[in-house]
Amino acid sequence: MVFAADLNSREMRGLERLSAIPLKAGVLMRSRGKPYVKVAGSFAPPNAEAMNLISAHLGGARSFSLDTADGRAFALAKPLPTLSENEQAALLLVYPKSAAMAPYRPMQLAISLIALAGLCAVVYATWRTSALITKPIARLDEAVRRLASGERAEAPVEGDDELARLAASFNHMANEIEEREKRITHLAFNDVLTGLPNRAMFQQQLDHHLRINEGVASSLALYCLDLDHFKAVNDTLGHPVGDTMLVAVAERLKVTAKGCFLARLGGDEFVILQFLAGDPRPIGELGRALIATVSKPLEIDGHRIVPSTSIGVAIAHEDGVDVDTLLRNADLALYRAKEAGRGVVAFFEEALNERAQARRQLENDLRRAIEQGELELYYQPLFDLGRNRIGSFEALLRWNHPERGMISPADFIPVAEDTGLIVPIGAWAMREACREATHWPEHVRIAVNVSSVQFHRPGLNEVILQALAASGLAPNRLEVEITESIFLEGSESTLKVLHGLRELGVRVALDDFGTGYSSLSYLQSFPFDKIKIDRSFIQNLLTRTGAVAVVRAIIDLAGALGMETTAEGVEETEQLSELRNQGCSSVQGFLFSRPVQAADVHVMLGDRTDQVGRRVA
Ligand code: C2E
Ligand code: MG
Ligand code: MG
Repeated sequence: MVFAADLNSREMRGLERLSAIPLKAGVLMRSRGKPYVKVAGSFAPPNAEAMNLISAHLGGARSFSLDTADGRAFALAKPLPTLSENEQAALLLVYPKSAAMAPYRPMQLAISLIALAGLCAVVYATWRTSALITKPIARLDEAVRRLASGERAEAPVEGDDELARLAASFNHMANEIEEREKRITHLAFNDVLTGLPNRAMFQQQLDHHLRINEGVASSLALYCLDLDHFKAVNDTLGHPVGDTMLVAVAERLKVTAKGCFLARLGGDEFVILQFLAGDPRPIGELGRALIATVSKPLEIDGHRIVPSTSIGVAIAHEDGVDVDTLLRNADLALYRAKEAGRGVVAFFEEALNERAQARRQLENDLRRAIEQGELELYYQPLFDLGRNRIGSFEALLRWNHPERGMISPADFIPVAEDTGLIVPIGAWAMREACREATHWPEHVRIAVNVSSVQFHRPGLNEVILQALAASGLAPNRLEVEITESIFLEGSESTLKVLHGLRELGVRVALDDFGTGYSSLSYLQSFPFDKIKIDRSFIQNLLTRTGAVAVVRAIIDLAGALGMETTAEGVEETEQLSELRNQGCSSVQGFLFSRPVQAADVHVMLGDRTDQVGRRVA
């Protein structure tokens, strides 16, 4: 028996409420071959797609997911028995997902919050790690980079962990580097002895000034100073006294040249930049003040020294628009100041430049002269008054210039000395003179001049030895003439060279005695074989009062020391008789003969000796 009852919507909802969970129930019906339609239930009728899904899951044991008009839901479709075979019915239970998940919402929220908090914690921890490790390292890295690029760099020190200690060590190192750089810069731009700026700094300053005052007349005066006879102070009183003197002079210059830029270029050379701003009037004043301030007496180690200075001045941009020209011109002016008698201020003039150019030309010509064999030796006899015959010849250089004719050694030897060309020239003269002398009688010596430049260069002994060996001349037939200027270089090394010459067996004569830096102590320090009394004494012998006494004193002194004497520049017979009376050993001069070519020496030694001898007698 079958009972059937129609369920309306309300009754259907009543059934739904019987369930423990909020189910929605509905009944679907279909005729065979037709799609299901909803016949009862509280949910909106499913669409065709949903109906197909329901058909597919009809009778299944598991729920399936269904899209309904109220949203996604879990669904279960169960077949219902029908009265007719042509009809099929199904019970559809629908459980909306929102309703199913509702109890889990708070839990879901809690999980989300926990996840968010976790994420925040991770972000914070990362940030802290970065703050504690990465940031200090980055700052240190930045500081290292700045230091490497030459900037001042300091890494912040925070806390007292390893990184802080590393930063502190870095800062210490950076400070040390900075200090060392300061010291190096100071050394590079300052003179150690006086603490004044050095040449490099001076050049920088002058260059900078010339650049920013380009085209401005009388913007600056450049003073070149050097101490007169500083070398003599160094040599006679020693380097420590010389150094103290330089420091004292630097102090004086600093005070007098206040507001100017003062630098020491080296040795006893100082430069001052006086900024004029277009007004050249203060130039003379400062020059005079500098001379006055430097020349006050100094007391060093118990020695009273009166320094003096010569000053050369060049003015920008009248005398030069660049550092080199200005310095060279101030230097030329300094040269002139020295020539003018030292202790004076001289200004640059274009004529000085022309002279310097002529000198440069001479230097070039001289180089060529050596290669082209334009140099020649002339020989001047020295008459031996005791034996009444020619005792020796002095070899004297002559330069036969292709355009300028015969050039005097007085003109080209200083150039040769300045350029060092005197070394090869002197060596050539030594070889040539020795070779020539081998053709003369045994008793006739050859005297060869040796410049102080040549004297102080190593290798003089070798040159002499080679000349003697190559010619076969006996060493005692060679007389080396040196001047007192060799003593300016430092007496210890000078005496060493002199003794070296003596060991070779050659004779040594002191030339031009009485000029320059004559000191009787030189005579005491080395046993010269001969003293050659300078021409200036002989020229004035009969005219200047006291000259006879001076020459007599020299001859007597030399005699007492066992040295011979030669009077140079004897031109008159009266001079000759006076010298003979005084006991002079030999004479040299135009009275007897001018310097002659080698070929004429033979004539003089052969035929004319008696004739010349008669003139002298
Ligand atoms: P010095 O060594 O004193 O040579 C003597 C100079 O006096 C020579 O000048 C000679 O010509 C000159 N003289 C000789 N008798 C008289 C005279 O009666 N009256 C006058 N007014 N002068 C006289 P010179 O040949 O012009 O040489 C000048 C200087 O050049 C020499 O002076 C010497 O210092 C230097 N010199 C010459 N040849 C050489 C050389 O081969 N090497 C070096 N280093 N210097 C040399
Ligand atoms: Mg001489
Ligand atoms: Mg001489």
